[in-house]
Amino acid sequence: MQTLVLTVVLTALVAKVITEVWLIVLNMHEVRQRQNAPPKALREVMDEPTYRRSVEYTLAKSRFGLFGEVYGALVLAVVLFSGLLPWTYDLLGGGPTASVWREGLYLIVVMTLLSLPGLPLDHHAQFRLEERFGFNNSTVRLWISDKIKGLILVVGIALPLLAAILFLIDWIGSWWWIWAFVVFFIFQLAMMVLYPMLILPWFNKLTPLPEGELRQRLMALADRTGFRAKTIQVMDGSKRSGHSNAFFTGFGRFRRIVLFDTLIEQLSEQELEAVLAHEIGHYKLGHIPKMLALSAGLGLVSFALLAWLLQNPTFIEAFGFRFAESGPGPAFVLFALLAGLFTFWLSPLMNRLSRKHEYQADRFARENGPGAGPMTSALRKLSEKNLSNLTPHPRYSTFHYSHPTLLERETALSIHDGDSSA
Ligand SMILES: [Zn+2]
Repeated sequence: MQTLVLTVVLTALVAKVITEVWLIVLNMHEVRQRQNAPPKALREVMDEPTYRRSVEYTLAKSRFGLFGEVYGALVLAVVLFSGLLPWTYDLLGGGPTASVWREGLYLIVVMTLLSLPGLPLDHHAQFRLEERFGFNNSTVRLWISDKIKGLILVVGIALPLLAAILFLIDWIGSWWWIWAFVVFFIFQLAMMVLYPMLILPWFNKLTPLPEGELRQRLMALADRTGFRAKTIQVMDGSKRSGHSNAFFTGFGRFRRIVLFDTLIEQLSEQELEAVLAHEIGHYKLGHIPKMLALSAGLGLVSFALLAWLLQNPTFIEAFGFRFAESGPGPAFVLFALLAGLFTFWLSPLMNRLSRKHEYQADRFARENGPGAGPMTSALRKLSEKNLSNLTPHPRYSTFHYSHPTLLERETALSIHDGDSSA
């Protein structure tokens, strides 16, 4: 039985790496084939030098991605099959009688150690790759302080949450996973409200959009669509990167819209109004509770699965642990390490849902905002400024694109306008 567990895990690991590499190679091939000229419908989006640069950027990111995939899989394989996990467990004094804090700490320590091999890659991506294409605004000092803050958050927030969940196992017994799910879900809701209030400001400066024509225009849009925004915030995204974005956080009366300063710099007032209308669309069309319900469903299934693995000696013994001498720590660690190998195959489904929401929000923006014209030109400018890949391979985008491509969005916007022949 232990061999079966190891075979399944190894197969899943190899299948994922091969698929990822294959997708990247397909995508690179597609981009290279069109590197001399973008598709006809997109000729106006970028001038020729910019288009060439977007091709170079995509290829550079792809090559780096290939390396990252293989490297990540090797690290995971070493960690899983070398006996490192049971060894650290013994070292940290885990066991059936260990406290929930010690068991939780084991998970935090392993996950933190595991993030170390990724640091050089992360550094390279920011200070070589992004730098080369003019997107990096961060400094090594800021980068290090971000990492330290991240670690403080993990120890300060994730560890108590884990300890609480582990405590439920002792306290409630076999149905612990339902209560653990409830705790986890409440935590998720609380984070949606607290993240923009407490955590985000630790990393970025958020200021209300100043009085003026732009603010008046955006507030008028919010009133017109029944969104009743209290404030629209501007985030200094330019502190780290030249990439631009807008996003929506929170729910109910805690909802808020955040625009990157880079976005405000790049778009006209009318285009910004279109982007805001799109974000309001997500809110008005109920996308946030829908995604929340979906993630709750997945969360419940995960906890049920974890509960089942927890009482199954074969699972942890396959990786060198001794069942009789273990607390819940090992099953939690293995679950955290292995989940991604299986959820990867769900990403096309998740992306499909997300893309459906994007089309709906675009449509909302067209009907309630300044119309299809400014929405289209905003999307075009964003693609241009971010050097987006205009021609991703369809299979690659199935797995990796949560948003439809520029061409798909433009087509959808124009069809609804009744000028599909254009
Ligand atoms: Zn959207």
